[in-house]
Amino acid sequence: LCFEVRYTDLAARIGILETPHGNIETPSFIPVVHPVKQSVSTQFLKSLGFKAVITNAYIALQYLGNKAKTKGIHDVIDYDGVIMTDSGGYQVLEYGSIEVEPREIAQFEIDIGSDICVPLDKPTGFGLSYAKSEDFVNRTLENAKATLEIVAENKKARNIGTNKNKENCVGGAIWAGPIQGSEHFDLLEHSVQTLDKMGFELMAIGSPVELMESYNFSLLCQMIAKVKRLIPAKPIHLFGAGHPLTIPLAVALGCDTFDSASYMLYARDNRYMYGTGTARLEDLSYFSCPCPICSIYTVKELLDMDQNKRTIEIAKHNLYVLKAEVLAVKQAIKDGRLWEYVMLKARAHPKLMEAVELFSGFEFLEKSTPIFKDKAIFLYSPIDQFRPEVKRFRKIISSFRSKKKILLLHPDTGLHPFYSTKEFTNIVKKFNNAQICAYNPFLGVIPAEVSDIYPAAHNLIAQSSNIFFGHQAKDYPSFIESLNGFIAKNNFEEIIVLANNFMRDVFAFDPVLNKMINIKILDHESDISFRLRT
Ligand SMILES: [Zn+2]
Repeated sequence: LCFEVRYTDLAARIGILETPHGNIETPSFIPVVHPVKQSVSTQFLKSLGFKAVITNAYIALQYLGNKAKTKGIHDVIDYDGVIMTDSGGYQVLEYGSIEVEPREIAQFEIDIGSDICVPLDKPTGFGLSYAKSEDFVNRTLENAKATLEIVAENKKARNIGTNKNKENCVGGAIWAGPIQGSEHFDLLEHSVQTLDKMGFELMAIGSPVELMESYNFSLLCQMIAKVKRLIPAKPIHLFGAGHPLTIPLAVALGCDTFDSASYMLYARDNRYMYGTGTARLEDLSYFSCPCPICSIYTVKELLDMDQNKRTIEIAKHNLYVLKAEVLAVKQAIKDGRLWEYVMLKARAHPKLMEAVELFSGFEFLEKSTPIFKDKAIFLYSPIDQFRPEVKRFRKIISSFRSKKKILLLHPDTGLHPFYSTKEFTNIVKKFNNAQICAYNPFLGVIPAEVSDIYPAAHNLIAQSSNIFFGHQAKDYPSFIESLNGFIAKNNFEEIIVLANNFMRDVFAFDPVLNKMINIKILDHESDISFRLRT
C-alpha cells in the first residue's frame, strides 16, 4: 500500500493514498452513493472535488448481480474516480443478518473492480452486551480471514502481484480491516491487533454512528484513540462520520478517510448543515452559507419546493458544507493550527467540549505534532497547557540543570525571546549571579538561556488581570508540577520571585511551595528592599 504522509499536526495527516483509480489526498470525506437509486449525481460529487465515493456491494449484488460484474462498478454508478465498497455490514446493523456469505461478497467486490473493499463484517453497534459483542468481533475476524483467502486465490489464479497491475483491481484493490468492538475496549484491541497481523493495509473503525447521533463524542474519541495508539502508521477509515462537528475531531485523532450518507439522510429530514451543527430548515430565517444553492434560494423558496427537489437541493448544500469542513481542517493541519481549530469547534456544543478535554491525556498526539512551526501558538484557557508543543517544552525543561545558587523568576514578557527584552537586561544587571527564568501558566518555568526554544518565543497568551477570569493556580497543575520540579532538581539556596497575580495564587494554593522558607516574593522589579516571606 502506498500512503505518503506530507504534513501532520496532532494525529492528523495530509497524505496521498494510492489506489487503482487514482490518488486521494487525505483527510478525505467519501460520500455514500446508492448503487441504483442515487439522486445526487456522481458527476455532481465529482465536480465538487470528491475524489472517492463509497457504495454498497451487498445492494449492488441484490439489485444487479451479474450485470454489475460485467459492467464493473465504475460504469454502474457512472464514476471514474476511486470507489470504495462496503460489504453490507450496515445492512447487518439495520436488519440483523443478510443472506450472503463472506466469500461470495468478497469475490463480488473483486469482480466489480472496487478500489477499496471491506470484508463482510458484523457490526457491534453500541450498547451491545459484552458476550454478544465478543461473538460479533470473532465472526467479523473469521470473515476477514476467509476474505483474505479469496483475495489470495484470485491473485494466484490471475498471477498478479500486489499493486503491480493497477489496470486490474484484483491486484491493486486495498482491503480494509473492519474493526469492531465499540465501547468494549479489550475487544476493540483484540480486533485491531488480529486484523493488523492478518495484513490489512487500511483499517476501518466500524459502527460509531449511534455514538455520533447521540453526540457521545467522548466515547467516540476514546475509541479512535485506542485504535490509533495500536496502529499509528496505517491509514484509518471511520465509518459513518459525516457531521461537521465530528470531522475535525476524528481527523485530529488520526482518521484519514471517513464516509457518510448524512448529506442525504439529513436532507430527507429537512436538516440543513452548517459549520457548527445542523438546523431544521423550518427553523431558519436566513442562509448564511455562500454555496450556490443558498445563493439562489431563500429559505421560503426552498420550503415551498416540491419535496424531492428540495431534498436534492439541501443534500447539495450539505455536501458543500462537508467539503468546506474538510478543506478547513486540512488548512489548519498545514498551518499547524489544528489544536486551535478543534478547540474553536468544541465551543459549538458542550458534549464536544467534554470530548476535547480528553485530549489532555492523549500522549500519542505529541508524536506527530511538528517540533517547530512557522506560526506562534495561541494559548487561551487551561486545556491549552496540555497541547503537545507545550507539554513537550515542559518535558525539555524538566531536565534543565543550573549551577547557580539563586533562582529569579520573572513573569513572561509580551516580547520574545525573554533574553532579548529590556526586563531581562535590567534584572541581569542586578542579579548577575542568578539563574533567571521567565514563567507563564502554560509553559511553566522558562530559563532565559533557552527562552528562544519553540514555543517559548512563539506564543501569544490571552492575559487577564480580572481576579475571576484570570489564570488561576488550581487550573494549572502542570505549572505547579513544572515549578516544583525545577526547584527540586536544582540546588538553589535562595529563590526570588517577581510575582504577578497568578504566581501569588500559585504560592498560596500549593502546599509544597507554601512551606518553602528561602523564598522572597517581590511585588515589583523596583521593590529593591526584599520583603521576607514569613
Ligand atoms: Zn449552502
